[in-house]
Amino acid sequence: MANQNSSIQLDRRGLLFVLSSPSGAGKSTLARKLLASDQYISLSVSATTRPPRTGEIDGKDYHFVDIDTFNTMVTNGEFLEWAEVFGHYYGTPKGPVEALLENGKDVLFDIDWQGTQQLFQEAGNDIVRVFILPPSIAELENRLRSRATDSNEVIKDRMSRAKSEIGHWDGYDYVLINDDIETCFEKITHILTAERLKRMRQKGLIGFARKLMEN
Ligand code: ADP
Ligand code: 5GP
Repeated sequence: MANQNSSIQLDRRGLLFVLSSPSGAGKSTLARKLLASDQYISLSVSATTRPPRTGEIDGKDYHFVDIDTFNTMVTNGEFLEWAEVFGHYYGTPKGPVEALLENGKDVLFDIDWQGTQQLFQEAGNDIVRVFILPPSIAELENRLRSRATDSNEVIKDRMSRAKSEIGHWDGYDYVLINDDIETCFEKITHILTAERLKRMRQKGLIGFARKLMEN
């Protein structure tokens, strides 16, 4: 992948950028903003057994599959990682991620802490893990209610799990508080820029530096 942060184009290793948060803290909103503003990163579209929410598009937000299809994909080793979240199954299909990386893209993952751990086992240093916290528990509930996509019962369930999800904050490289969305988004873009510039990702640097040192 070329390094877009310089007029000199050096090859760079693609990275796997993970956003996790308790449900309602704002990671999907932040992910959408990032995808809209950065042409070098693409979303890994997960498969899920959860029914679609109003407005969600099959193949764009998720691949909506039944449990038999999901189980077959697990058996066939088609997932990079998978987990049960809120009574439904979610998994990251391997093929599209590999294809994106081969095509010189970074890949964005909106997955939970269980998936993040599994992905870290697979990809190690190629992963950048960002955890999003809400400014308060009351605001988290406000956001879930204002999103108006879940029943009262589902919201109660998401709230009751929020604290245990928050407990996984220390398994991440960066932890951001999503108070003001623009400020939080800006921090995410800074993280991505800095991570892209890390020496270990700049494959083209070796040759470039060698040339500079030639007589
Ligand atoms: P998640 O993907 O983490 O479950 P969403 O991105 O769906 O959360 O956000 C939940 C709701 O909160 C949405 O209605 C979204 O517009 C809103 N929201 C997200 N970030 C903020 C913020 N910083 N301030 C106010 N509302 C926000
Ligand atoms: P939602 O139902 O609100 O879209 O997602 C519920 C939770 O599942 C979120 O925390 C989301 O990040 C997580 N999730 C979505 N896709 C995947 C996936 O492929 N793997 C894992 N492990 N978690 C996922």
